[in-house]
Amino acid sequence: MTDTPLLSVVIPAYHEQEGLVEALNTIRRFADSLGSVEYIIIDDGSTDATWQVIQQISSGQSSVTGLRLSRNFGKEAAISAGLKAATGAAVITIDADLQHPPDMIPEMFRCWQAGAKVINTVKRTRENEGPLKAWMTRRYFDLFHRLAGIDVGNASDFKMLDREVVDCLNALPERERFYRGLVGWLGFEQRTLLFDVAPRVAGSGKWSSTKLIRLALDSIVSFSTTPMHLMTLLGAGFAILAAGLSLRTFWLWMAGTAVPGFSTVILLLIVVGSILMIGLGIIGIYIAKIYEEVKQRPGFIVQQRAQFPAALPHSDKDQTDQAEPVPPSGPVLVREVSR
Ligand code: UDP
Ligand code: MG
Repeated sequence: MTDTPLLSVVIPAYHEQEGLVEALNTIRRFADSLGSVEYIIIDDGSTDATWQVIQQISSGQSSVTGLRLSRNFGKEAAISAGLKAATGAAVITIDADLQHPPDMIPEMFRCWQAGAKVINTVKRTRENEGPLKAWMTRRYFDLFHRLAGIDVGNASDFKMLDREVVDCLNALPERERFYRGLVGWLGFEQRTLLFDVAPRVAGSGKWSSTKLIRLALDSIVSFSTTPMHLMTLLGAGFAILAAGLSLRTFWLWMAGTAVPGFSTVILLLIVVGSILMIGLGIIGIYIAKIYEEVKQRPGFIVQQRAQFPAALPHSDKDQTDQAEPVPPSGPVLVREVSR
């Protein structure tokens, strides 16, 4: 596709060999009629035949481009890769398992035409998630809202973004990205639509509990330094308590009634010790984060590109999350954002 398309549809895919063709066909049924559309499917380092399926699709459909990441970088990175590669005036990000209903695309498109820059979709229910996961997810989003000041609510990664927003997102210098949080942080005119989560078209969910907990921790640490400040507050509280206790001990010593409170000492040691350890741990998480960002490694590496044979050759340079800083000639908004 040589002309700039009106719409780009970004689809991250990890081990989706069974459902991908059906998912793409369904998405196409709803998106193709809206104008010129390009589809960018990102193979996030699958070890099954997902890449072969993508190659096959793109060799027969000129509007489909495949990107293959050199390993599994995670969905956030796969979305970033897709957003970098997308050229449309508006970009939709949607899962490859049809859990995000493609029949909402026309409605999202209308909202975009009406002037919204970001169209979020929010899961109406989480009933197919199991009560514990649903409860933990709700608590996590509450915590995120409270700590980061950004309400991502039940928002999903199924979104439509205007080119302006995509450009700002691409220009953000950080490598570790929490898509939902960043889009919320960017602002712009946002609209929200509700949807019901459909069951997966094929395959199974790729999020292990550890992966989810890591995402939750990473996203909070990326957006909020409140946990570190809380530790300082806690430390101050304990210092006041310690001062009070010291005064009391000194008073008893003066009065000649020595403290038999061995247990008090032990208790204090344990409490203070554990609080110190937690505090160090929290600071450690932030330092690890700084370390990751300082290394300036790209957030993903595009190893291969699959395109309709007749399509113009495309430079891969801009497909890698470049490590170089935003050039001084970049848009003013972008430079302000990166500070
Ligand atoms: N995915 C990905 N990389 C990963 C895990 C998932 O690109 O490491 C993709 C996956 O192929 C799907 C989407 O992200 O298109 C959502 O994944 P999944 O259905 O496993 O998650 P859930 O529906 O539970 O959010
Ligand atoms: Mg899914």
